[in-house]
Amino acid sequence: MDKQALDFDREHIWHPYTSMTDPLPVYPVRSAQGVKIQLGDGCELIDGMSSWWAAIHGYNHPVLNQALRKQTEKMAHVMFGGLTHGPAIAVSEKLVALTPERLQKIFLCDSGSVSVEVAIKMALQYQHARGLAQKHRLLTIRGGYHGDTFGAMSVCDPVTGMHSIFAGVLARQLFAPRPECRFGASWQPADIAVTADLLEGHHTELAAVILEPVVQGAGGMWFYNPGYLRELRNLCDRFDVLLIFDEIATGFGRTGKLFGADHAGVMPDIMCLGKALTGGYLSLAATLTTDEVADIISGGVPGVFMHGPTFMGNPLACAVASASIDLLLETGWQEKVNRIEKQMMRELAPARSLEGVKDVRVLGAIGVVEMEKPVDMARMQRFFVERGVWIRPFGCLVYLMPPYIINGQELGLLTSSLLEAVQTIQA
Ligand SMILES: *Cc1c(COP(=O)(O)O)cnc(C)c1O
Repeated sequence: MDKQALDFDREHIWHPYTSMTDPLPVYPVRSAQGVKIQLGDGCELIDGMSSWWAAIHGYNHPVLNQALRKQTEKMAHVMFGGLTHGPAIAVSEKLVALTPERLQKIFLCDSGSVSVEVAIKMALQYQHARGLAQKHRLLTIRGGYHGDTFGAMSVCDPVTGMHSIFAGVLARQLFAPRPECRFGASWQPADIAVTADLLEGHHTELAAVILEPVVQGAGGMWFYNPGYLRELRNLCDRFDVLLIFDEIATGFGRTGKLFGADHAGVMPDIMCLGKALTGGYLSLAATLTTDEVADIISGGVPGVFMHGPTFMGNPLACAVASASIDLLLETGWQEKVNRIEKQMMRELAPARSLEGVKDVRVLGAIGVVEMEKPVDMARMQRFFVERGVWIRPFGCLVYLMPPYIINGQELGLLTSSLLEAVQTIQA
C-alpha cells in the first residue's frame, strides 16, 4: 500500500475508539490466510485475536469462501419483509437446535449491538403486553460490555463505558457489583447478595436482567462462577423478571462449552449471538427467545414486534453462518479449544511471578494477563508486530483468543511473545 493511501486513512477514516487528531498507528493488511495476517510490507503475523472473537476457523477458509461464492451467484440480498429464503431458514434451524431448548423463536439482525437492542426491546414489549409497562428498566452487573448503540451502552459498565458523557440521553439502569467468585472456585452464595437485594427492591420496575454468562469480554475479560447464573435464574423467576444472556463473545465454543450458559446448565429467556456466528466473514447477529415471550409480545399492542432492519436475514451472511456452524461441529471444536486451553495454562503460568502482573487466567480459548497498570498500547503493539504476532492489548489487559485452528507452535509464539512483552515494555 502506498504512502498516499495511508495518509488518506490517517486524515479521513475513523478506526474503532480512536482520536482523529492523535491516532495510534494502523498496519495495512494485504491478505489473511489460516492463522496468518499478511501486512502490506509482506510481513506475516500469527493472529492472536480472531479479529475480535470472530474468525474462529481462521481466514480465507475454502469452505466458507465456497458457501459465499455459491450464494452470491443466486442472490446477494432480498428484503426480508414479505419474503423469505433458504439461507435464513437453514441458519435459523441450526441455531434453534443448538441453543438451549426453550429458545424457539429467532430474530436475525445485522450486528451484536443491534441484537442487544432487539433483546431489550423484546423484554420491554413483553412486559408492556402483560400490562406491566412500569417494568421497563434493566439490571446488569458492572464490568459488562454489550455494544455501542444507546440501549446497549446503557447496560455497559458505567465507568469504562463513559456514561458521564451521555448522561442526559442514556436510559438509567441498575448496576449490581461484578461477581467476585471466580470460575473454578467453590461457589460463595454471598456473591449474589447485593444483586438479590436489588431485585427484591426494584422488581416492580425491572423488565429484565442482562449479562454476559461466565466471561465478561471487552469490559474486563473477567471469568466468574457459574453458580452466580444458577442463583440469578432462580431470582429472576421469583421476581418475575426476564433473563437475557449476551453470548455474542462467549458463543460458539470460545469458553470451552458451546455457549457460556452451558457451564451453568441455565436457560435464559432471551439470548444474543453474533461475532463468531459467520466465522468472521460478515456482520450477522441473532436474538433468540422463548415461545412464551414471543406469544405475549404478539398478543399485545401493536400486535407485532417493533423491529425490522433493512439488511435483516441477509442471504450471504446467513449462508456463510450456516457453513461456519457446520464446520465448527464437524471439525472437533471441543478438542481444539481444550488443547489451546491446556497449552495457554501451561505457557502463561510463568507470567504470575513477573513484576507488574496482577493476574493470569485462562478459560477455553481465552488467555488473559492482567497488569497492575495500563500498558503502553502503541509500544506494545509495535513490539508484537516486530515479533510476528498480532496481539492487541487494552487498558491493563494483554490477552489471547486465537482462531481454533492454531497449532501448538504458532500458539507457542503467541504466548512467548506475550511473556516477553510484559517483561520488557513496562521496564
Ligand atoms: C462485541 C460485543 C457486542 C457488540 O457487538 P457488535 O457486533 O460490535 O455490535 C455486544 N456484546 C458483547 C458481549 C460483545 O462482545
